[in-house]
Amino acid sequence: MNNDKLWQQHIGEHDNGLFLLGTIDVPIFLLKISDGWALIEGSVEPLAPLILRQLENIVKDLEDIRYWFITHSHYDHIGTLSLLYPLLPNVKVFVSEATKRALCHPKANEVTYNLTQSLYNIMPEAEHAQSPLLETKVPLADIPVEVLEDGQEVHFDSNHSMMALATPGHAKCLLSFYEPKYKRLYVSDTLGEMVSPIRWEPLIFQNYNAYINSLRILQKLNVEQLVLGHHGILSGDLAQNAAQRAESDVARFIKESEHVFLTLDKDIAKTTRYISEKTRDSTATFVSKKLHYNGTLLMLKLAGVIPEVELIE
Ligand SMILES: [Zn+2]
Repeated sequence: MNNDKLWQQHIGEHDNGLFLLGTIDVPIFLLKISDGWALIEGSVEPLAPLILRQLENIVKDLEDIRYWFITHSHYDHIGTLSLLYPLLPNVKVFVSEATKRALCHPKANEVTYNLTQSLYNIMPEAEHAQSPLLETKVPLADIPVEVLEDGQEVHFDSNHSMMALATPGHAKCLLSFYEPKYKRLYVSDTLGEMVSPIRWEPLIFQNYNAYINSLRILQKLNVEQLVLGHHGILSGDLAQNAAQRAESDVARFIKESEHVFLTLDKDIAKTTRYISEKTRDSTATFVSKKLHYNGTLLMLKLAGVIPEVELIE
């Protein structure tokens, strides 16, 4: 099979009961299970009206949505919770302990709110929620959640389950999910940003060693399908080899960034701007220019490319 077939980017139904909803850049996943449906990921608030229409088309009765697996607390992975949770009377929301803390944290919720507002200007598909969807909106802190520990499984039936895997490094709270029945791995942002199936840009926003360690844990899994936090679904060799490619591309990123830093006379702002401009195209519809610059600066520090503290000579 060629790479086109191994990288699926369509909205709607995929293999083995999986549906990709929202948009290809900021999706939410819907999974058929024996007694209903499960959701994975949370997308962004400006896509909530679209996602609701998509869900109503496929699911028919929203009462049948029973599980919602949240990978991490970043604004582009929890965005529809406040609007859609109240419409799903039987749903249980699963998160990591650190995500639970973030959802209750006023400062974190303020960051989520501000980043969400910026999306209404940059996302072509953004829609403001109208009545009645708007009337039932709940604060993130008021949504009851269940905590999953590393390795813990949620059983849908005797041979179908979802296993949580702690994969920090991009974010402390990040959980990947593994569905053993279909050897399907939901990695969210653990592997970084996929520019193409053979090129990854790292997204190290919490801890470098944890990031590499998470990539190595995922390399040991048997993966037939790799479901990404952004840009689609990989199958076959592309899926199995992605975590290894992502690790090699961390090394490439560091080497290239160190070269840029030296070439630009160790000017931190110029280096960050240059690298951010070169790598931001694939996320331009849901990551503002300013956020991308700040993320790049943080990553260059965490990866040891530029010093943590600027030395005055
Ligand atoms: Zn993230």
